[in-house]
Formats: sequence, C-alpha cells, structure tokens
Amino acid sequence: MGLSRHLKGVHVKHSKNTAGMPIIPMPVPERVYIPMVQHIGAPCTPVVKVGDTVKVGQLIGNSDQRISAPVHSSVSGTVEAITQGMTQYGRVDTSVVIKSDGKQELLDTVLPPEINSLEDFVKAVRNSGIVGLGGAGFPMSGKVNIKPGEVDVLVINGAECEPYITVDHAVMLSYTQDIIDGIRAVMKWLEIPQCHIGIESNKPDAIARFNELLAGDPAIKVHTLRQIYPQGAERVIIYETTGRIVSYGMIPWNVGCIVMNVTSVMKLQHFLRTGLPMVSRCMTVDGNVVLHPQNVDVPIGTPISDVLEFCGLKEEPKKILLGGPMMGRAVPRDDFAIVKANNAILCFNEAFAQQRKETACINCGRCVAGCPMGLMPAKISRAFKDKDIEALKELNVLYCMDCGSCSYSCPARKQLNFEIKQAKALVMEAKK
Ligand code: SF4
Ligand code: SF4
Repeated sequence: MGLSRHLKGVHVKHSKNTAGMPIIPMPVPERVYIPMVQHIGAPCTPVVKVGDTVKVGQLIGNSDQRISAPVHSSVSGTVEAITQGMTQYGRVDTSVVIKSDGKQELLDTVLPPEINSLEDFVKAVRNSGIVGLGGAGFPMSGKVNIKPGEVDVLVINGAECEPYITVDHAVMLSYTQDIIDGIRAVMKWLEIPQCHIGIESNKPDAIARFNELLAGDPAIKVHTLRQIYPQGAERVIIYETTGRIVSYGMIPWNVGCIVMNVTSVMKLQHFLRTGLPMVSRCMTVDGNVVLHPQNVDVPIGTPISDVLEFCGLKEEPKKILLGGPMMGRAVPRDDFAIVKANNAILCFNEAFAQQRKETACINCGRCVAGCPMGLMPAKISRAFKDKDIEALKELNVLYCMDCGSCSYSCPARKQLNFEIKQAKALVMEAKK
C-alpha cells in the first residue's frame, strides 16, 4: 500500500477569485504580536526584553535546536510586552509584542550573506528564518542540511491545488526569475543535478513564463499537472513529476528528493540577494463576506483583524479559515497573529459555512476512491468509534495526510477527516 499509482483525489470547485491580482503590501500595523512558534520543531526563546528598540529584520527569538527557525522583527519600534497566550494553533505560546514607530527602519547589519561553501549556505538558510510556505511550516534549514549529492532531484511545488488560494500563482508571475535564481542556488550548493517544477494546468500563464525563461536549460523541467486535488501534496507532486513513490514510512529524502514551495524559494532568493530575513508573508484574502478579495503582503505578527479591516468586510464572518477550505484550520477569533505558514485568510457567512446534517454510511466507497494514500476512511472511522487501536494501526491511519478528500467526497456528509485526525492522536497517545 502507499501512494496510488494513478492519482486519486477529488475535483474541487476552484473559486480562484483573486487569480491574476498582484500582491499588495499592507500598511504597517500599529502593533505586531510575533509568536515564538511559527514552524514545525523547537520553539524559539525571546532574545529581546521589554523596552528594547528594534528595527526591521532584527533577531527577536532564537533556538539552538536543529529543527527550528529564528524569528525576526517585522516592524521598527519598541518591545512593549512579552506575553503568554493562546495562538492560532490552540496552544499557549510566548509572543513578543512590538509597538511600531511607523518608520520601518531597516537594521543596518542586514546585508547579503557571504556564501563560499555548503556550510555557509546551510547557515544562511537558517539565518533567513524561512519555513515551508505552502502551509506546512517545516524549517527550510532542516531540508537543506544534507550531504552534497545525497539527493538528486529538487521538486518545486507550484501546484496550488487548494480552492480560493492564488498567492503562489501571483508569486510565480511576479517573481519568476527570482524563483529560478533561488532554484539554481539550491541546486548549486546541494549538488542537485535536476529540478522538476510542478504547476497545475489552470495556471497556463505561469507555465508559459517559466518555459520562456528556462528555454535551453535541460536541468530544470516544467510539468503541467492535471487539475485534481491534492495535486500539491508532497508525496503526490513527487510522484507526478518524477514517478518516484514515497511509500508508507518513507520521507522524500528516501527517494532522493527535496520538495520546496515556489514562494519559499522566492523568499530564499530575496534573502540571498538582500540579507533581509523573513519578516512578511504574502497571502490570499477571500471568502463571500470579504469586500475586496485580494493578495496581500502582511508583516508577520499582524492581527487577522487588521488584515480584514484592510480588505473590508460586507458582514461579520461566521467562519474564519487560515488556509484553504480543504486543509485550512478554522479559528474562533480574529485577534490571532499572522505567522509565516499562513497562506490565506478565508471568511464566510453563516449560510455558506453551515454544515449539512450527517446521515448513515451507504457503503458507496467514494471516500476510498478519493483517498490519494489508498486508505479506507470509512473503516478507519468505524475503528475510531470502537476505539480499536490495533485496527487503526492495521489500517495505516498514521499515513493519512489530512487532505480532506474523503470528507469532501462523502454523500453522507460524514466528518471523516475530523475523525481520522482524532484517530491519529489516539494511536500516537497509545504509542507513547
Ligand atoms: S484525509 Fe486522509 S484518509 Fe481522507 S482522503 Fe486524505 S489522506 Fe485519505
Ligand atoms: S463516502 Fe461516506 S457514505 Fe460512502 S463509504 Fe465512505 S463514509 Fe460511507
């Protein structure tokens, strides 16, 4: 079992209302609330104290753990508080609160890094604070910390298969050359001979732009991918662009691949050129209550409410999602801070967000047919309800990647992905 040889998945309505829109920089917020956990891995510890003045790009949180990413100030101003509070992930974490002075003064030590070796490159990637910007939030330095030649393929993810989200598309159109330069830097320092860029066929302008700029470069190939969700899932895009299968229990590195998101590579190139670490992130703001749906560049730590005020609301949203409708998370309030991994804010009214009533399973098998991992969601759901941990293990529940295709395809409106998430937690707890 493992990744299906012929990609399953579901055909979702794209609703890419902001396609073709440029990325607009947001005005500087009055205050930013910068969480010390914005990535998978070890949290950072603040390295500033209340009363300190800071500038844009200044280090404010760091960690000595291997899988982590430093955190930098997105505004110039004064550290007003260091607080403990609930973050968008539902955990109590430390945040550094900075009152902006409105000047956006850049730290004078922000300079392009000098890179003469792989070691220098890995150090620079670490200092950039960049994490996976497709939504996962895995520190980029953890990906590039390998021996030269250990992987032979770099896969660049430009699929952007989630409905509504168009920010990667906007980045591919506005920063095509930067993405290519970032790719070449990764290939050079990690000694990776080939790169495959995967882009869904609903972005022909981006595909054409890459093909035009890459003409004559046999090392970097652009793939036009079918429009099917979850085409952008790591295991799926590896298979679709290289034919390599990342089976259960494996990671991309096991099949000689590293996967990076297009916006992550663009940010990396900007860091290599300027030395400015990751202090903002571009995202799509959309949904049926948003007055001016658009792509915006938001300073890290900006409250969601400031972003929504900038884009305007027709009415109070009933549901706020961070990320897309398939894999995003609903948040109960609009005062959470934007972190590096957020690629979208979607807001919907009550009528749109209403969940239809669940009915009995009719054994139609659509959830199985739609699962890209070849799992059996209906059986997993039953085993979860019985709290049968052995059955859950046999059903390989831990290999679910939370894509939501099973819930989407179920005519009985069963909350399969929600139950499977809980089932995974149950198995993990039992393992402990
Ligand atoms: S959420 Fe998990 S079980 Fe459901 S379709 Fe996706 S991978 Fe399969
Ligand atoms: S898709 Fe829904 S109704 Fe069909 S088998 Fe799966 S759980 Fe049952």
